Parts: sequence; C-alpha cells; structure tokens
Amino acid sequence: MTEATIRVMTPEEIAARAGGETPFVVWPRREELFAERSVRARQLAAGHPMRDFLIFVADIAQQQHELLRWFPSVPVPDKAALARAAADGVAPLPATTWQRDPAWREGLRRMVAGLRARGATPTAAATLEALAAASDEHLELQADRLLNGVMTGLDLAAAPLIAAALQAYWTHLVLEVQRVHAELRPAPFGRTRDATTCPCCASLPTASITRLSAETSGQRYLHCALCSTQWHLVRIHCAHCGGNQRIAYQTLEPHAGVESRPGGTVRDAVQAETCDDCNHYLKIVHMAKDTQVDPVVDDLASIALDLLVAETGKQRHGVNLLLLFGDSAAPDTGGP
Ligand SMILES: [Zn+2]
Ligand SMILES: [Zn+2]
Repeated sequence: MTEATIRVMTPEEIAARAGGETPFVVWPRREELFAERSVRARQLAAGHPMRDFLIFVADIAQQQHELLRWFPSVPVPDKAALARAAADGVAPLPATTWQRDPAWREGLRRMVAGLRARGATPTAAATLEALAAASDEHLELQADRLLNGVMTGLDLAAAPLIAAALQAYWTHLVLEVQRVHAELRPAPFGRTRDATTCPCCASLPTASITRLSAETSGQRYLHCALCSTQWHLVRIHCAHCGGNQRIAYQTLEPHAGVESRPGGTVRDAVQAETCDDCNHYLKIVHMAKDTQVDPVVDDLASIALDLLVAETGKQRHGVNLLLLFGDSAAPDTGGP
C-alpha cells in the first residue's frame, strides 16, 4: 500500500451496512491486517526510542499474518448459540469463557519457531526458548491470566507472544464465524448491551480510529484488543462512561521523543481523548492525518502520551496486549 492509498470497502464492510447507515462494525481483513501492522511497526521504529521493541512487534505481526493464513477450520458457535447471545445482548465469543481450540497453542509454537529462525536478542531468545518448551497446561494457564487481566503469576516477558497468538486465533474465529454463517440474517455479530467492549469477544479496545474510506469516512471506531474487530462509537463521546460533556483532547508536544517524518508525525495522528466525568482516557488515531495509522502499533509508539496523560491522574480505558504493565504505577491496563 502506498502513502496515498485510500482503503476501499470490502464486501463484508458493504454487507455490514444497513440502509445506508454507518456500518456498526468494520471486520478485520485476513490478508491485510497483520501484514500492514508489520509494515507500520517497522516504519515507526526508525529513530524511535523504542526502536528494538517496535521491530520485535513488526516481526510478531509478520508471524501473526502467517498464522492467519495457516489456521485450520476451528469450532465456532452454532446458530442457536449466536441467537442466544444476540437475545441476551452479549458477545458470542467471550474472551474470558470461550473454550479455546488447541489450534491456538500450535499457532503460538509456530510463531515462536518462526521468530527463533529469524534470530533474536539474547533476552528474547531466552523467552522464546522457554515458550517452545512450555507445557500445554502452562500455556493455557498463562492465557487464562492474560485474558482475565490477572497480573499475578503472569509471565510478562512471554505475555506479548502468548497474546499475539491469541489475537491471531480470535481474529481467525471472527472470520470463521462469518464464513460458516455467511447466510445468517441478521448477521452473526451485532450491538451488545455494553457499547464500551467488543461486540464479538467482549474485550476492551486498544484505541479508537477515525476512518477514511467511503461509508466509514470520518466515523470513529473502537479497535478490539483481542479479535481486531472495530465497532462504531459516535465521536466526542467517552469510550469508558459514554459521557460527552467534558471531553478534551491531549497531544504530545513537539520533540517529545517522536521523530518527524515526511507526511506527518505520530504526534499529529495520535491523540488522547480524555473525560473529566469518569477520569478515563482512550487514544484516538486519525487516518485523515496518516492513512497508515494502526491502533495497536501507534498506541505502542506513543507511550510518551500515556505518561503525559497519567500525570493528570487519568486512567487508561484501553488495553494493549502486546505491552502489559505489572504494577499500578504504570498506565492502567484496564483488564476485563
Ligand atoms: Zn473482540
Ligand atoms: Zn468518561
């Protein structure tokens, strides 16, 4: 994709439209999502204080891309289960209780093997080696902690890799549900009772994004931290409490550790949307400022903004599974 490319709607996006209204969800795209994330991470790594980490994220995203191509068919909810979830107004693939198919662990092991083959720093190599040797029980326990926001006993070094495999698996799940239930009307995923969490898996968003293409142009979507689905939330509303009276936007000052580059800076494209009613914030990235923004990578690359907002006492609403914090002094990771 070139700098000037404007994304066109996929058939899924078009299908998600209802009578010309703003589509409620924007689905992840199997062939583009992680490939573009990898490119974005590499792009932002240049001259960045977190260069090595962003390159690691680029390598992980490349592996996630491979996983989305590899994943076999996995069990998905049947029509009755989807209808029950819709009637109850809950997500049908809940992160905390969905019975994960063992394919996710095989995916993780493939990812680890792929990263080891590329070569890694000594610290990363030790983590990869430990993961390659880890038992199924250990991996399932770590996944449970991660998905339930339990920091006690969570291996923080391995967490980004386990999270990345879970992200790929859940993204695959969402796409599988749509493939298997393509004929289902209404569509398998719809609004749930809680507009602040993902309608597919009930996870928190990582950040929100204002989009450019066609019917979604100028609209704001929350990007799911786990399954990569984006769901609509009207602009200038708090993603935590829904309030719209005391919303403000904070950006990084120039030269706060962010390199300028042609066509804009991370600073221009990323803001913190803060709410004085509930004292939370969520980052918002703008495609109009930079067509290649990625909610996950741009969130990681703008951690200086989290530190700035944290100084005002605000709590983070979103979660980025690739960078969790083990103590409360760091930005609140807002586990479910
Ligand atoms: Zn989700
Ligand atoms: Zn609020």
